[in-house]
Amino acid sequence: MFSESFRYPSLPDEYLKEYLLPEIYQWSLSNGLIMYPPDFKPESTSIAPTTVFPTTLPKESFNKAIDVQKDYNELYAKISQDQLGWLTSEAAELAKSDPDFTGKLWDTYLKASKIGIKQKLRLGLFRSDYLIDKSANEIKQVEFNTVSVSFGGLSTKVGELHQFLNQSGKYDVAKGLEYYKYVPVSDSDVKLAEGLAKAVDRYDSISGNACVLFVVQNGERNVFDQRILEYNLLKLHGIKSKRMTFDEIPELTKLGEDNRLLIKATNEEVAVVYFRSGYAPTDFKTDKDWDTRLYLETSYAIKAPDLLTQLSGAKKIQQLLTEEIYLRKFVKEDDIVKKLTSTFVNIYPLDNTSLGNEGKRLAFESPEKFVLKPQREGGGNNIYKEDIPKFLNSIDEGEWNAYVLMELIKPEETMHNIIIRGDEYFKEAIISELGIFGYILFDDDTIYNNEYAGWLLRSKFNSSNEGGVAAGFGCVDSVVLY
Ligand code: ADP
Ligand code: MG
Ligand code: MG
Repeated sequence: MFSESFRYPSLPDEYLKEYLLPEIYQWSLSNGLIMYPPDFKPESTSIAPTTVFPTTLPKESFNKAIDVQKDYNELYAKISQDQLGWLTSEAAELAKSDPDFTGKLWDTYLKASKIGIKQKLRLGLFRSDYLIDKSANEIKQVEFNTVSVSFGGLSTKVGELHQFLNQSGKYDVAKGLEYYKYVPVSDSDVKLAEGLAKAVDRYDSISGNACVLFVVQNGERNVFDQRILEYNLLKLHGIKSKRMTFDEIPELTKLGEDNRLLIKATNEEVAVVYFRSGYAPTDFKTDKDWDTRLYLETSYAIKAPDLLTQLSGAKKIQQLLTEEIYLRKFVKEDDIVKKLTSTFVNIYPLDNTSLGNEGKRLAFESPEKFVLKPQREGGGNNIYKEDIPKFLNSIDEGEWNAYVLMELIKPEETMHNIIIRGDEYFKEAIISELGIFGYILFDDDTIYNNEYAGWLLRSKFNSSNEGGVAAGFGCVDSVVLY
């Protein structure tokens, strides 16, 4: 095992301020480890929230998370293929208790299938997130993301930053880093671009120069993370991309023959619509934006993801999969069932099933063991511990079904680190969430490509419940394995 000093690297404050921080700022600005600041000014960028040191992770946990990724990809692809009608019946039910968002997604899907969804290919760019549970010393899944997964680009950058600092001797002054022989770098920047390229390749373009349309948010701070994928698409695959917000799409695109999606100005065909927006209610400002979502769903472009794949990422679906009868609908092999379930913690519904009644009891009797989650993405939406009972009491019991009650995973404070946010830095104990990326290209009955696509480590102060980087709680980090 390791000395305390290994887990708690320390270095003189003077060295940090006078020398190491300027090195980090300059490397980050030179290489694009950047983000727009919280007050979003397009002309001013700053370093993305990041750690000074990589964080140590047990090799075994890291490898296990990677090892199970293709099984997760396949599981969610099979759910989304919906051959058993399970997802659609669960989504229809969930839509009732969450009309504001799940209901809208579901409604848009129903409209799309009525019009007819001609493009059968769909692309999932996924990220499965884990914390390492302290007592079991095992990875436990926080959630499975099926839409707008971010930080595939910046994860590579932060690994490269730490590798640079290590290789060039900048950490030499720090005590306790003698084990930093090798800082691995995530290849998510190229693997996610590769996923998009596989979809473009399989798309039967009539023009031969089909592009990828990135659907993005207005005022997106995490632009550079996305642009890394765009640059890799062009550099490594010769594929061009466009960026548009929901409100620009009706103006700038049109449908051609067979509902092919075309860029108006150039007549270029769009092979893949890649959503980096559309995962939160605020992404749809008006009904017109929902019409645009429908228009894209019924266009012949491949969606990354389509609405069913997005719906499969609902926290309710994650809860249901912890009930083995549902998991077994999609996974037949005992060893894979075992692999997947070993990453689960208990998740309860708050409905009228017996498990739901158990959930309701636990929410009031021992809320300190739980987090309550709505069907939302992007961080900042959960209710924690003692806040759960009063929150549930404040809403109508009819709405409880829109939430799941999840056991809190208790990670170890991995180490002390220094988190840089803008021009400030903070020295604290951190905990880290490991994300594993994957991509999968499939249609209603066939899976064409299923790949692991790199990793992400995000760290946060132990004092904060949530770890969203853009939401302002966490930062991007890299790993050293032991
Ligand atoms: P979102 O889709 O908004 O990212 P998450 O399920 O990832 O929702 O929850 C947000 C954050 O809340 C996580 O990144 C993690 O920090 C914390 N969290 C969520 N579930 C758990 C859990 N079971 N145990 C401990 N922390 C959790
Ligand atoms: Mg999420
Ligand atoms: Mg999350």
